[in-house]
Amino acid sequence: MSLTYVIDPPAIPSLPVTGDIRRFAVNRIFCVGRNYADHAREMGHDPDREPPFFFMKPASAILADGKDMTYPSLSNDVHHEVELVVAIAKGGVNIPSQNALEHIYGYGVGLDMTRRDLQGEAKKMGRPWDTGKAFDQSAPCGAITPVIQWGHPDKGSVTLLVNGEIRQEGDLNQLIWNVPDVIASLSSLFTLEPGDLIFTGTPAGVGPVKKGDVLEAKIDGLPTLNTKII
Ligand code: MN
Repeated sequence: MSLTYVIDPPAIPSLPVTGDIRRFAVNRIFCVGRNYADHAREMGHDPDREPPFFFMKPASAILADGKDMTYPSLSNDVHHEVELVVAIAKGGVNIPSQNALEHIYGYGVGLDMTRRDLQGEAKKMGRPWDTGKAFDQSAPCGAITPVIQWGHPDKGSVTLLVNGEIRQEGDLNQLIWNVPDVIASLSSLFTLEPGDLIFTGTPAGVGPVKKGDVLEAKIDGLPTLNTKII
């Protein structure tokens, strides 16, 4: 007998796949903190002293490319963070760095939108970051491009434009913990599962957005992610 539910089950969040009519079903969203030295410094930390650390957003926080993002409640300081997103095809635990790339389906461009004021308050009070990081629509994400089309990038520009002006500029070769290292570390803490996304951290230049701003998040060779703040 098939399962029935007392309420309708939630829809499975998903992303388009470049060159495929099928979609990538999103399971969980993991994010890496302070993974570019210049960004770690702009946030007041020493990039040489810290192992990678992680936080999460719910899969329902995904916002599709081209959709408007509603400025979230209870914040006056919402920041953009452009990031390379890794899409996991094959799960695992304690994955060694040298095998990590075999677990990847593809890559996309994401925005780790952040209520910086609430995150700052949480840091000060020693509280969780969820209200600062895991709110509705806090994870705009573009199409996933499969490894078979794009390979595994170890360099390439990462850019965020607001109203056509460059605000963030970095290169994937500046990642402190590269993608295999991130997968190795994350899979020592959690059993990775197919459908997991990993937001790999943002280069320097994070800053506030306001209603009416048009954001274009770009990584060399991947489809651009567009959103407007309303
Ligand atoms: Mn981030």
